[in-house]
Amino acid sequence: MKNSTARKIVRRVEYTPYPWILDHVVLRFEIGDDTTRVLSRLHIRRNDACAPAADIDLDGQDMELISVSLDGLPLDDSGFTKTSEQLLIHDAPASCTLEIEVQIEPLKNTTLTGLYPSGDFLLTQCEAEGFRRITYFPDRPDVMSRYEVTLVADKARYPVLLSNGNSVGSGEFEGGRHWVRWDDPFAKPSYLFALVAGHLSFIEDQFTTTSGRNVTLRVFVEPENLDRCDHAMESLIHSMKWDEDRFGLEYDLDIYNIVATNDFNMGAMENKSLNIFNSKYVLARPDTATDLDYQGIEGVIGHEYFHNWTGNRVTCQDWFQLTLKEGLTVFRDQEFSSDMHSRAVKRIRDVRALRSRQFPEDAGPMSHPIRPDKYIEINNFYTMTVYQKGAEIIRMYHTLLGEDGFQKGIRLYFQRHDGMAVTCDDFMAAMADANGVDLGRFGRWYGQSGTPELKVSSSYDADAKIYTLHLSQVTPSTHDQSNKQPLVIPVAMGLLSKDGHALPLRLQGEQEGTGSSRLLVLDEEQQSFVFEGVEERPIPSVLRGYSAPVKIDCPYSTAELAVLMAHDSDAFVRWDSAQLLSQREILGNVSRLVEGAEPVLAPELVDAYDALLADLDSDPGLVAEALALPGEDYLAEVMPVVDVDGIHAARKFVKSGLANALQQQFLQRYTDMCTDQVYSKDPVSMARRSLKNICLSFLLETASGEGLAEAQLAGSDNMTDTLAALQGLVWVEAPAAETALQSFEHQWRDDALVMDKWFSIQASIPGEHAVGRVKTLLDHPGFSISNPNKVRSVIGVFSMMNPTGFHTADGSGYRLHADQVIALDSLNPQMAARMTGAFNSWTRYDENRRNLMRTELKRIAAVQNLSPDVSEIVSNAIGMDKNNK
Ligand SMILES: [Zn+2]
Repeated sequence: MKNSTARKIVRRVEYTPYPWILDHVVLRFEIGDDTTRVLSRLHIRRNDACAPAADIDLDGQDMELISVSLDGLPLDDSGFTKTSEQLLIHDAPASCTLEIEVQIEPLKNTTLTGLYPSGDFLLTQCEAEGFRRITYFPDRPDVMSRYEVTLVADKARYPVLLSNGNSVGSGEFEGGRHWVRWDDPFAKPSYLFALVAGHLSFIEDQFTTTSGRNVTLRVFVEPENLDRCDHAMESLIHSMKWDEDRFGLEYDLDIYNIVATNDFNMGAMENKSLNIFNSKYVLARPDTATDLDYQGIEGVIGHEYFHNWTGNRVTCQDWFQLTLKEGLTVFRDQEFSSDMHSRAVKRIRDVRALRSRQFPEDAGPMSHPIRPDKYIEINNFYTMTVYQKGAEIIRMYHTLLGEDGFQKGIRLYFQRHDGMAVTCDDFMAAMADANGVDLGRFGRWYGQSGTPELKVSSSYDADAKIYTLHLSQVTPSTHDQSNKQPLVIPVAMGLLSKDGHALPLRLQGEQEGTGSSRLLVLDEEQQSFVFEGVEERPIPSVLRGYSAPVKIDCPYSTAELAVLMAHDSDAFVRWDSAQLLSQREILGNVSRLVEGAEPVLAPELVDAYDALLADLDSDPGLVAEALALPGEDYLAEVMPVVDVDGIHAARKFVKSGLANALQQQFLQRYTDMCTDQVYSKDPVSMARRSLKNICLSFLLETASGEGLAEAQLAGSDNMTDTLAALQGLVWVEAPAAETALQSFEHQWRDDALVMDKWFSIQASIPGEHAVGRVKTLLDHPGFSISNPNKVRSVIGVFSMMNPTGFHTADGSGYRLHADQVIALDSLNPQMAARMTGAFNSWTRYDENRRNLMRTELKRIAAVQNLSPDVSEIVSNAIGMDKNNK
């Protein structure tokens, strides 16, 4: 089952259309005890738009070929050529029927792509290139066909048999076997194929679309989880309604199925009418799932549902266009969540994730534009850049064109391309044509990697009352590209007086001022914007709503940040000013610690926090976001050479200083937020819990914290409060922590999803003992390296969310991690590659750590039969070396 490491680079410019058209695909799966036989009948004709091809070229991996026949006549060895990844049918006529029978062994498949087992059932994951592990097929997104699928299996062992489309027949055979036939009327690429077979229970509901179609909705889970599906179902119904209301898009079949599995490499998969989900994004009950879990479920259910139009009805021509469906669909799910909850809180969380996880990607060895130009293993390009930065690019279309203009563009996009496989250029053309605008220069965002830096400076002429805002941009060269061009950067802004009032805005040339907020567009290297009639030197408020995915450099004084934080009309700017203030404070203390000086806490920061805690008018969810100090990952991102221990110590000093200086205020807000009598999952209750628990995390730095956390843990009726208290106790190494962990384990040891939380809490405990603790967790009977959720909650959390543990100066964290990557690679290369990414920023550390990480990267690179997945990541990372000598 080993892949060859010598896979070649695939390049975007080398795209050619497939020379054959497959109108109709008939599949029959004979599911047996150990093996499954797959019979396919492909109706093939020449694609007249292409130069005629002599052979039909099909992809296929890890399967046994039983027979091939062409127009009913069996082919012998001379009629085809088979390699480890291909089947070539020679001398095919212009139109033919090809029948292929193969045998696969799903129970031995540990890669979690293709057909594989989970618990008592079988399921598929085909995106991006999993279908080629099921049968020989042109496994590329631009080959779209109608599928008819018959599933045959033992009825007692596999009572539920699902595939895409509508169920059109079923029956039984003697000997206990039964069959179900599915017909999908919509042409689709192979990556959207799905099948599920096994013992599953379901809950059911109905949705009637605007035009009156009745849709049956089902959520399938393993029988013991049936009481945890309601929130997923509710989220699906909300998504369907929202897509009709906001985008005018309706569902197009009579059935919509969701299946939850514990064994999944990703979050979920949008297969036509048969979504398959990581159970983490389906199962929820107040005592098992946190508020973030609830919101995550709603967001991911929405995301996969929205793909039915943006991804399935219109799909990607090739995998370089992945952001066409992902950037757009992430934008849609962000908007859905924003309309369902607090828009400002959603925006802040998305920006936080972008800055702490996508910015490092842009600056690291895997840097790539949202539409990459080359790859070795496409699975390595399901990245923050393609998804989250891609969504930011879509958001900028929305900012520039407005909601109406954006929706006009979307309508034209579907009018032109429904049922087709297209490119990012097609999307941009629809947006431009629908609005009669030229988006040529905007298109550079698709091809340029790296995070642009927006520099802001200003000058004020008091006599003439003229204020000039100078904006300039530069995108630093990246590992994959050296020459960068200026981009189109929408800058939403306003001006504030020094006491915090919004000033009216009149740009030079305008007769009269309008409003106090503007959208400036920077599309050169530098531009100046002149405002007239400005009565006093203003404080600029720039990048409101985070109007572009850039780093901002504006020389604010502490006093100016305090004004913005307290008074700006834009919630994002208020939050960002608070972050910048704390960031300066923490980084200042990192320097002091390096110099051997005593750390200090600036009174301005204490005052700012005091004001935040006294703000009873704002949404508690927003106050919670503003109180949360910048994470160690983001602080690392803004330091030239990462000082892991310094960041940790300085951040802890600032947190503890604030907590002790404002203990009464934190306690007061905490107590105020504790008055909810019964648990509810409405947005207001969630916001109150988030403020309560951020206050608790500060209070845990004071003498009263442990008592409060113990009481909260004892009295909690929901996982949000339980986990906040438990995590707090564990992280401050409270005497009660060990017992609390044990009783949590005792209560939840048979619950895989809840145990993931127990593992994560411990894998993230900072400090030098982390390595030893993680080794113990890896030996725990509840841990399994073949389960991605477990891998993420122990190995992933340790390597990516526990900087002082992973980067222990003796290199033991790196060694442990490399051992896990190597073990994982032989089972699940895709997961192994993701975990290898923890080493991606290795050149940003001190010399000792750099040497230690390079040693581990080289050790991984030397493993025999290393997968192309891991090999691509490692060789890019080692390639960073030349930039750092
Ligand atoms: Zn998606």
